Amino acid sequence: RPSLVVLARVCPLGPDHVLLLLEDRTDARRVEAVRRDFVANVSHELKTPVGALSLLSEAVEDAADDPDAVRHFSQRMRRESRRLTQLVQEIIDLSRLQAAEGVVQPALLPVDALVAEAVDRVSSVAQQRESEVVVAGERGLQVVGDRELLITAVRNLVHNALAYSPEGSRVVVEVRRATESQTRERAVDIAVSDRGVGIGPADLERIFERFYRVDPARSRSTGGTGLGLSIVKHVASNHGGDVRVWSVEGEGSTFTFRLPEAAAATGSTPAASVTT
Ligand code: ADP
Repeated sequence: RPSLVVLARVCPLGPDHVLLLLEDRTDARRVEAVRRDFVANVSHELKTPVGALSLLSEAVEDAADDPDAVRHFSQRMRRESRRLTQLVQEIIDLSRLQAAEGVVQPALLPVDALVAEAVDRVSSVAQQRESEVVVAGERGLQVVGDRELLITAVRNLVHNALAYSPEGSRVVVEVRRATESQTRERAVDIAVSDRGVGIGPADLERIFERFYRVDPARSRSTGGTGLGLSIVKHVASNHGGDVRVWSVEGEGSTFTFRLPEAAAATGSTPAASVTT
């Protein structure tokens, strides 16, 4: 709904003229509504692990004479506090990403090393689910960006591919050279494909929104916060890239993370500028 505000009515042409100054505050209102929603969502999301921790600490107290029960509740408390830490970290990451324009500390980075590190960070999840992650495609490509942020983005995509696929699945991460269709600039695609649950058309439009989940129970049980894809989207746009998704419900999904390609290293590029 448009929001117009009347700012002044006194007309310098005289009393028989009316001057209306209107200011369009539609955008400001929308930004404020989004901010309010975000704060409400954050409060709601924080309440869940905090409430669980409070109940579990009471349970530990009540079970003081039963060492097995104490161990069980303590393990659950550790899980909930890890969840809380992850949630807070992702909220901080997201607000930093939204505040920043571009990349704060850009470095020349080999894509192979970024992908390898991202895959390594989900190796325990892959192992737990008895699934495998296969890396394929072109080698030796480079991009310019923030190493930690890029690893986090690819890690989130691979983590989701594992989490929303049956156990014992295979996730493929394919690195390809691409050409940006509008600018004709060279780009690098990192495509993460799974043959998991897939996403229906109505949800596809919303999955990059903060805290949006198709199936909240499944997301929570796999340790999801609902912020992963929102972070991926912001990392891509801060690096001059984007993220696209193709998905068919019940068949699987491919998320393609595209970044501008950095010029290939030449003999004159000092090896020290390459961060691995
Ligand atoms: P979450 O922490 O819930 O995984 P994300 O922002 O990473 O949050 O993803 C948002 C939602 O998009 C998920 O809850 C899930 O429903 C859906 N989703 C993301 N990746 C996939 C995938 N590879 N396959 C199926 N659904 C996915």
